[in-house]
Amino acid sequence: MSSDMRVEDAQARILAGSTVLATEQVALTDALGRVLAVPIVAEFDLPPFANSSMDGYALLARDIPGASLDRPVLLNVIGEVPAGGIFSGSVLPGTAIRIFTGAPVPEGADAVVQQELTAPGPSPDTIAIQSAATVGTNIRVAGSDIPAGTPMLARGTGIGVAEVALLAALGLGEVMVVRRPRVAIVATGNELVEPGGSLRPGQIYNSNTPMLAAAVREAGGEPWILPVARDDLEDIRARFAQAQTADLILTSGGVSVGDYDLVRQVLDEQGEIAFWRVNVRPGKPLAFGTIGHVPLIGLPGNPVSSAVTFELFARPLIRTLLGYNPPFRSTILARLAEAQSRGDRRHYMRVRLRYAADGVWADATGEQGSHRISSMIGADALAIIEEGEGILAAGSVVSVLAFQ
Ligand code: AMP
Ligand code: MG
Repeated sequence: MSSDMRVEDAQARILAGSTVLATEQVALTDALGRVLAVPIVAEFDLPPFANSSMDGYALLARDIPGASLDRPVLLNVIGEVPAGGIFSGSVLPGTAIRIFTGAPVPEGADAVVQQELTAPGPSPDTIAIQSAATVGTNIRVAGSDIPAGTPMLARGTGIGVAEVALLAALGLGEVMVVRRPRVAIVATGNELVEPGGSLRPGQIYNSNTPMLAAAVREAGGEPWILPVARDDLEDIRARFAQAQTADLILTSGGVSVGDYDLVRQVLDEQGEIAFWRVNVRPGKPLAFGTIGHVPLIGLPGNPVSSAVTFELFARPLIRTLLGYNPPFRSTILARLAEAQSRGDRRHYMRVRLRYAADGVWADATGEQGSHRISSMIGADALAIIEEGEGILAAGSVVSVLAFQ
């Protein structure tokens, strides 16, 4: 077996020194994707008052026993209450109030008959009720959704569409969230040209910086893109010095064993290397350390290695800084569509999940070389082929890290 560090141990080392960042207040309309810094308790009932779930007539259920299409019951209509209005009188026996959806149920009334089950009476102030109702029919009781005092959202909850709805319904125009981690991104490599520029022979576009910036944003962080560092000690030193105000520094490339792999050397010079090399495929040459108090993760240069190691090591750190607990994606079980051989290194395969009648299947997204950006397209999960020996037959159940 390999002596390189296990994925779990590397993750534990990376997360060990980190805790949630400070908080800030944002407008609710800017809160999507942020993380709650405070727990949310319902301070009042939802709905706040009993209201009608139908357009119809508020009345007393005991006035209309046995009412039907053939034997309607006539009631006197003594008023009207639209949503946002109030009817200040009381509904007395023999009377009804015209009511609309969302309007407060007037005092005395204990049921609402929907308008489709009524017909105009013989005079304008009367209504023929064509259906009986039990007490409570079509009335949404105060607190029936959420009673006052209910703890609704824990600190560390990610704010999605549903959470925005709840916070708004509770009247919160602003919300305390965790500050976004600022993540410096430094690609290294003499061969790199920024997208939009033109390539000379031997050059390629820098795809890792935009990819990592997107991944940082998706994780909830704020990317801080620095110019590419050449494979040159001075250039890398300058970039690291510049990145010192970040919450996390991500580099790509230059952490392998080649003559131009200088990231570790500068990390060692300016800070401390905690470890390098993890027993993972793709992405073995991964470096972790700190410069001052700023963690630095040196991701490998191959685009797929960079993406997978971001997912395994950088994303959980960003999520920890944001206060998510646990900071990891959840895993589900899936069957391998094709046999896979196991090896010394744990393999994170790019797969597409297929939900079939006989369970969830993981289909590989083509050839899995660490330079093959094509293998990331269409992937919605990483299937985990544990380190070990032998072959996992087609149909074997494996854990899968699902992106959604
Ligand atoms: P390195 O880890 O620097 O040896 O790079 C490994 C491979 O990844 C080489 O083929 C590089 O050209 C490629 N690579 C490194 N950085 C990037 C980048 N930012 N964008 C695209 N490919 C890269
Ligand atoms: Mg390089």
